[in-house]
Amino acid sequence: MKKLLIVGNWKSNKTILEAKKWLQEWNVQFPISNIQWRNATVVLCVPYTLLYPLKQEIDRLQIPIQLGAQDVSPFPDGAYTGEVSARQVREFAEWVIIGHSERRQHFGEADAMLAQKVDQAKKEGLKIIYCVQDEHIVVPQGIDVIAYEPVWAIGTGKSDTPENAQHVIAAMNAGIRLYGGSVTPENIRSYVEQPAIDGVLVGGASLDPEKFISLITNACNPR
Ligand code: PEP
Repeated sequence: MKKLLIVGNWKSNKTILEAKKWLQEWNVQFPISNIQWRNATVVLCVPYTLLYPLKQEIDRLQIPIQLGAQDVSPFPDGAYTGEVSARQVREFAEWVIIGHSERRQHFGEADAMLAQKVDQAKKEGLKIIYCVQDEHIVVPQGIDVIAYEPVWAIGTGKSDTPENAQHVIAAMNAGIRLYGGSVTPENIRSYVEQPAIDGVLVGGASLDPEKFISLITNACNPR
């Protein structure tokens, strides 16, 4: 059975109280979910404000989830008001998403800036999940994980076909390759069954712990 990477992206959602409640619910559901999870690594990419409290809670409850940020500054520490540097992220998280289509669309992030972000993340040893919207996007050198996420599939309930995702992803060059775009507990299996797909990047379905657990369970356990 291949090793899977399942990444949740909470986007700009949840207060500290709500995030802690999510973890508590996870902690109740997880032991009774009867999951064989040895083949999955689970990562949650959360807003910066939640990294510290969630790290504390995950360590305290010994929950098998790794933390990631959803973005990082293109600059090191210094006079860059409003930014969070890779060194600051590294205090709490192992992973970072770079180049999500929502960052490209709403914040004008383009290839040059994204390459700077990748440089900063690499300097601090963060594992990078680099999002591409199609096969023509330029991917900087040294990326650990590529996530293929067609823009029209994100948050729309209209997922790409597993066959097309496989086709696009098979042509991409990275150690680990993910599909993202309206992945649900119901359709997850059809993606992870594709030979080139090593896991998924999940937005909406990661916000509810029960749904996320059932998505991971279905990913890990063959029908
Ligand atoms: C995402 O946030 O990257 C994403 C794929 O969202 P959703 O699963 O909601 O489509």
